[in-house]
Amino acid sequence: MLYRFLGKEGSVLSSSIAVFGAESLSTGLINQYRGVSGTRNRTSTAGEVRVRFAPSPTGFLHLGGLRTALYNFLFAKQHGGTFILRLEDTDRSRIVPGAAQDIQHTLEWAGIPPDESASRGGPYGPYVQSERLRLYSSAVQSLLESGHAYHCFCTNQRLELLKREALRKGQTPRYDNRCRHLHANQVQEKLGRGEPYTVRFRLHQGAEPFEDLVFGWTGHAVGEVEGDPVILKNDGFPTYHLANVVDDAHMRVSHVLRGAEWLTSTGKHLQLYRALRLTPPTFAHLPLLLNPDGTKLSKRQGDVYISHYRQQGVLPEALLDLITHCGSGFNSNRMGRKQDELIGEFNVSKIVTHSAVLALNKLPEFNRIHLQQRIEDESQCRLLVEELKNLITQTLGDQIEDQEVLQRDYIQRVLHMRKGHITSVKDLLSPAYSYLWLRPTVSRQQLEETSSESHDIITLVMQCIRGCGGKFSTEFLTSELKLVVKQLKKTKYSSVMKLLRLVLTGHQQGPAVGEIMVTLGEDEVCLRLQKLLNSEL
Ligand code: GLU
Repeated sequence: MLYRFLGKEGSVLSSSIAVFGAESLSTGLINQYRGVSGTRNRTSTAGEVRVRFAPSPTGFLHLGGLRTALYNFLFAKQHGGTFILRLEDTDRSRIVPGAAQDIQHTLEWAGIPPDESASRGGPYGPYVQSERLRLYSSAVQSLLESGHAYHCFCTNQRLELLKREALRKGQTPRYDNRCRHLHANQVQEKLGRGEPYTVRFRLHQGAEPFEDLVFGWTGHAVGEVEGDPVILKNDGFPTYHLANVVDDAHMRVSHVLRGAEWLTSTGKHLQLYRALRLTPPTFAHLPLLLNPDGTKLSKRQGDVYISHYRQQGVLPEALLDLITHCGSGFNSNRMGRKQDELIGEFNVSKIVTHSAVLALNKLPEFNRIHLQQRIEDESQCRLLVEELKNLITQTLGDQIEDQEVLQRDYIQRVLHMRKGHITSVKDLLSPAYSYLWLRPTVSRQQLEETSSESHDIITLVMQCIRGCGGKFSTEFLTSELKLVVKQLKKTKYSSVMKLLRLVLTGHQQGPAVGEIMVTLGEDEVCLRLQKLLNSEL
């Protein structure tokens, strides 16, 4: 049962503070890191901002996870705070080998690395839950002592029966809280006999209201709809709820930005915070991400994983821009935002509650824009030159006649001439661009089909290029070529361009002739034209 409290701002808040207030203030752990507790849209960060991305390594990082990590990163950087990566690996049976490494590696690749994590270290480690078991068992101990938790000896068989019975009656299965009512001596007896047990948290009735930075005043009467949850399993590992709460408090997390699928768990978490005498962080639940067809993102295979995009040559900044573009959380929406602009323009109070549709079909466009930005940045362009050079060598290898095409200046010129047209450097290895690296072969028949004046045209163009006196620019060539055409009797401007494009590239369609000439350079253009004249047109 999820309640949203739509009353006047402040009225529910004051009662919620009263609930947490006195007890919490007496503990040392808290309040120094307590952030927002005010009205909706207030993201004031009185204390230090500490946020975390807390994935379970039960799968490789997907778009939804990347969005959560990104929003936490942006929030931290915007407030001069700390971004933590904590691996929540307490569900041992669901761990996927390699997932933890993939998550860490992907955050680095995406340019949103954590400040504190297992590999980077930090003052509140370890940052992997399976290495923090002592902390959880002491929390469980204190909950048992204060009567907020109890031992449960129900067997799997009994729990299974309860579940089946509920389903048969068309009800939602829930634990019937039977072991809540065991006497202390019965518990001691069972423990003495070595009976296997779990520890459950005693939920209380009623909704615990809290103000979510996205969803506003919310509450979930968890005790009315769920049985008491297990907080310590019989393998000695805590469940997600306990470990999550203990760690957020221990790691001084001020704000929790996580997916909206966790919104209903927050009621349970708030009860745990209170029982442990800890102050909860401020919550902001992020709306779901959907495919354009309205299906849940995680239901799709393959293309939700970030590794898929990495392998496709998608630029991380393009992916991050797309993720933020489709959602909300920014004062305005525009394409081509770089990380510092994302940080500057991020605004939690602008995040809306409705699901965000991820327009993956726009990814090539985002990549095109960001690739152009990289080409325009000197140091990034240098890396692109290296990348492209490796691709050319791997793909074309010994077909290359002229080693000039592997020179840095040439590759850089190609990138600058084609920026804004290509969506990936790999595009430059497609057949349409093979003329950049290999000399085309053009048949006499192809030329004759284009113009009967081929020989004259090529001779005139050669003369014009040789006489350009070093002014080999697109503007100069474009106006000179127009003058050449005026001297012709039969061939129109467009056919001349087609002919030249054919001679220079092997294709009739493609970039403007002036641009092709500047890219190839004066000597190479003359060489290609001369080759045709030599073949006696
Ligand atoms: N381990 C949870 C997950 O996999 C974390 C949820 C949270 O951020 O509290 O998403």
